[in-house]
Amino acid sequence: MTVKVGIPRALLFYYYFPMWNGFFRALGADVILSSNTTKAILDKGVRQSVDDACLPVKLFFGHVLDLKDRVDYLFIPRMVSVERKEYICPKFLGLPDMIRYNVPDLPPILDVTVNVSRSEKNLFKAFAEVGRVFTSNPRTIRKAYNRGIEEQERFHRLNHLGYLPHEAIEQMGRGLLNQNHSPARQGDMTIALVGHGYNIYDSYISMNLIQKLRDMGVRVVTPDNLTGTIIEEKSAELPKKMFWTLGKRMIGSAFHYMRSDSIDGIIHVASFGCGPDSFTGEIIERHLRRRRNIPFLNLTIDEHTGEAGIITRLEAYVDMIRLRRAAQ
Ligand code: SF4
Repeated sequence: MTVKVGIPRALLFYYYFPMWNGFFRALGADVILSSNTTKAILDKGVRQSVDDACLPVKLFFGHVLDLKDRVDYLFIPRMVSVERKEYICPKFLGLPDMIRYNVPDLPPILDVTVNVSRSEKNLFKAFAEVGRVFTSNPRTIRKAYNRGIEEQERFHRLNHLGYLPHEAIEQMGRGLLNQNHSPARQGDMTIALVGHGYNIYDSYISMNLIQKLRDMGVRVVTPDNLTGTIIEEKSAELPKKMFWTLGKRMIGSAFHYMRSDSIDGIIHVASFGCGPDSFTGEIIERHLRRRRNIPFLNLTIDEHTGEAGIITRLEAYVDMIRLRRAAQ
């Protein structure tokens, strides 16, 4: 019988699903995703998680609950570092433990540690450790790893070219990555949506922010439409190196977009309860004021955020940009 590996459709799913999916499938496993986020999934996650967790972590709990009884294993890697000499938010480091000690009746968790801060070779070592749960053949594991890397690179290429519709990212498990895509539909203005993938691409938690902007005639770009080289170059303008990879992505992309003549506004999307988001939003806003008078909107989302309030703020923001342009 085929082994079922469950991947919650939350947090780093939005960054690394192609790699994980390619790897497990090449090992002969079935990859099962939790459903798209719903109110029920969010409510269950909020009830099961610790009170002071940020919104995306609470939501992760809900996705684990949605998935746990349908799979043989849950894949919840202990993510410490995904880039050399950098770290990601400590919440990812403790995630497997938070789940294990707060959610009853779990299947075994594949909680391998991913830490490439000292050497990128550690990435293969981590996947090799997981691979040994499925096979003792090192060549099969190496081939599966290479497949994962190829799929991840394809995902990045499509994103950088602007060929991947943002909604495809939420639906990655449904084969949308393998379809032929064309560049995203154009609007009469372009807004950079700067936020974590797990906030901006989850249509429930973001209250369909991307689609709402599109309906207002806005073309949306995100940090994922930029290459790692651009993000590195722009974030290096900070007086001190940013050691937090996710914060660096937000700041580097905001710095790039604020210089671009084709960008009409920047929206920063923050999670309630996220310490890193509060300071990245602050840094972006200060630099914007100093460098270019480009309209900026800071949206913080939590489990109580009302859709009507978001729509009103977006409409006012987009109208204001159009009025400014008409007056120039
Ligand atoms: S970066 Fe912020 S939103 Fe993301 S997991 Fe950490 S605390 Fe939560």
